[in-house]
Order: sequence, then structure tokens, then C-alpha cells
Amino acid sequence: MRLRNIPGSKEVIAESEYVIHEPETVKGKWRRLFGNEKPLFIEIGMGKGRFIMDMAKAYPDINFVGIERYSSVLLRALQKMDEIEEKPENIRFICMDAKDILDVFDNGEADRIYLNFSDPWPKDRHAKRRLPSREFLKRFDVILSKDGTIEFKTDNKELFDFAVSELEPAGWKADVITYDLHADKELSKDNIMTEYEEKFSSIGNPICKYIIRR
Ligand code: SAM
Repeated sequence: MRLRNIPGSKEVIAESEYVIHEPETVKGKWRRLFGNEKPLFIEIGMGKGRFIMDMAKAYPDINFVGIERYSSVLLRALQKMDEIEEKPENIRFICMDAKDILDVFDNGEADRIYLNFSDPWPKDRHAKRRLPSREFLKRFDVILSKDGTIEFKTDNKELFDFAVSELEPAGWKADVITYDLHADKELSKDNIMTEYEEKFSSIGNPICKYIIRR
């Protein structure tokens, strides 16, 4: 997802109290930033932020950080945040490429990572850019706590098969693997939909999901 550059977006982002502007300076201090010891969940590639905002409202005892690469997309999330009457205290955003995530979170600092409808990068030579690739799993291994988990959802079966095939070589195990999340009563009970999930499930695409740990 890349939206055309929107005039004034840089200024809106610069002024937002929800955006962490120098995230490297918060490395190792995320709990201090939130002012509590609650678990820290991250969504990487949050897009317009619907999922993470709904999660923050539903789970006030967890702190959430949404990461998005493009400022034009982050701006949409901030506009959505503006419309919320009771703004959640437990959410912040970062505009960055997740390849630099080790500069921003310390060893074991996060408790869960969500990857939702990650870009597929279909060409083989771009496999390393896929967020559920072993290269990214290696980074996530560093920043996740001992019992930390990664949850990945997509309607792209090729990307999902690739993601599953990356688990063993990267030293991860699946707690859950489904190729049709919405058909599984138990798994879909507390499922919070992302923007893409709503769009693609509404045209009949089954949603794949895994939950993994080391
Ligand atoms: N997660 C949202 C959803 O499910 O509705 C958005 C999905 S959209 C297909 C993927 C988003 O991930 C895009 O907004 C893209 O800019 C962002 N993204 C992709 N690779 C990224 C990276 N390496 N770091 C940060 N954001 C990334």
C-alpha cells in the first residue's frame, strides 16, 4: 500500500503526540515511555491502522506500537485516530522500515508481533524483503521475550506456504496453522479484522493464519 504524497502530511505527523519521532532513543525504554510494565505488542506494516487501534481499545492492559513504512499511509491512521472520541492511551506509531527494527527495540523487549497481510514480494530475488522470511524472523527472535509469539494473517496462499516453510530453518514452531481462519469457530471467536482482511474475505478469499513461537 502506497498512497500518493499528501501535502502537509509531514507536518501533521511531526506534530502528532502518537508518533514516536526518534524511536532509536526509546530502545530499551518502551515501558518507561508508556509509564507502566504492561506487555508490548507490535504490528509491523499496520497500513491505515484499523486493526491496531481496535486492539488497543479492546485490550487496555497491553501497550501497542504500530509500524508503517510510508508517511502517507501513517497519516491516514492519524486521521482515523482523530475521529475516535475516547482515544486509547496505550498506542503509539512509528514511521520506519521494519528492516531497522533492531535499532528500536531491545533484546526481549516485545511480547508479540503481528504481521497482517504483509506485502508478498512475489519475485524470488525479493524473498528477503518478505516480513515472514527467515531474515526477518531472525530479527524478531532478538526483540521478542522468551515466550513471545508472532501472529501472521494473509489471504495470499503462496506467501503463507512460503512463511510456513521458513519456520523450521529459522527455529520457530507453529502453535496454530489454519488455511481458513473464518471457518474455525474457536480461532475466529476473538478475531479482530484488519482492513485487508475485511476486503478480501468479503470477496470470498479464505484467510490463512499462523501463531508461532520458538
Ligand atoms: N496490515 C494492514 C491490513 O492488513 O489491512 C495493511 C496491509 S498492506 C498490504 C501492507 C502494509 O505494510 C503497507 O502499508 C506497507 O507500506 C507496509 N509495509 C510493508 N513492508 C514494510 C516494512 N518493511 N516496514 C514497515 N511497513 C511495511
